[in-house]
Amino acid sequence: MEEKILTSGNPLALLPEPLLAWYRANARDLPWRHTADPYRIWVSEIMLQQTRVAAVLGYYARFLAAFPSVEALAAAPEDRLMKLWEGLGYYSRARNLQRAARQITEQGGFPDTYQGLLALPGIGEYTAGAIASAAFDLREPAVDGNVLRVVARLTDCHDDIAAPGTKRAVQEQVRALMPEAEADVRIFNQAVMELGATVCVPNGSPKCGVCPARDFCLGRIRGTAESLPVKAAKKARRVEEKTVFLLLRKGKIALRRRPDTGLLAGLWEFPNTEGALNEAEAAAAVRAWGLEPKAWRKKLTAKHIFTHVEWRMTGYALEAAGEGPFLWADGAGLETHAVPSAFARYYEEARRLLEEER
Ligand code: SF4
Repeated sequence: MEEKILTSGNPLALLPEPLLAWYRANARDLPWRHTADPYRIWVSEIMLQQTRVAAVLGYYARFLAAFPSVEALAAAPEDRLMKLWEGLGYYSRARNLQRAARQITEQGGFPDTYQGLLALPGIGEYTAGAIASAAFDLREPAVDGNVLRVVARLTDCHDDIAAPGTKRAVQEQVRALMPEAEADVRIFNQAVMELGATVCVPNGSPKCGVCPARDFCLGRIRGTAESLPVKAAKKARRVEEKTVFLLLRKGKIALRRRPDTGLLAGLWEFPNTEGALNEAEAAAAVRAWGLEPKAWRKKLTAKHIFTHVEWRMTGYALEAAGEGPFLWADGAGLETHAVPSAFARYYEEARRLLEEER
């Protein structure tokens, strides 16, 4: 078998049949796999971008309970939408979902072509392919990091998977493999991704012993699988220092809304400034907002990593007098404002402090 495959060239051609049989017997039972409704598939795909399946499950159920249709999402108040997304991160995903939902509603329904899907806000080639195949039985590939890894190992390909040319080539290879039968098309992309997520796993040894491709996988046969895929080193993240203030006044805490554009646009945050300020500098910053620092309670540091930026935060909790340009929220008020998880440590501390004040 191995000799034949090694000389015949393309191990990918042998993949569909054993892969689909393996998927039908072994795939994880996930709610979005029980539907062909493009809306439900689309919401799951957007939530799963940069987010683990286990983290998505609860959000997915709550989101669909609140917005059971594309029309309901289109009409949702922004604050409610953001609150339901709170903690998932990458908030532009939620905004784009709603923009796209409005576009779909205006158009009178979901586009049922790859190009039509691609034209919607927040939908790139991968997501368009995933929806096109799972909801509309179209033979369109959906190539994510899992698929790139599986294909690189199967074909013993050492090209840089971060290069656009490599991705393009893999898309064409996967397209050529896509089965004809509708029931198979619907699950094929999912099956390759599932193999990558659960068997041909990243950052460690692939579980070749239980893999449906083990007999013809060139990476396994040649012993290169663990060093694949090749990925050029990313640029280092930019580090930004910040000082975050938990300003307390009469059982309430200061919040402010972030600008409508840029990182975490339109979400709520604790007042903060650039730089790691010492206590004297922090007091000056508080006065600059028109407040008078009174009792200093606590200093606490935290870190949050975004894709391209890392925030290193110094935090102060203190009582202050005055109004300042802020919204003052009690415990219940804090709950109703979407504060991104970048401030998670401060959010927990704020809840604790407000609890103490009650
Ligand atoms: Fe990945 Fe191993 Fe399967 Fe090859 S045999 S696809 S390396 S898990």
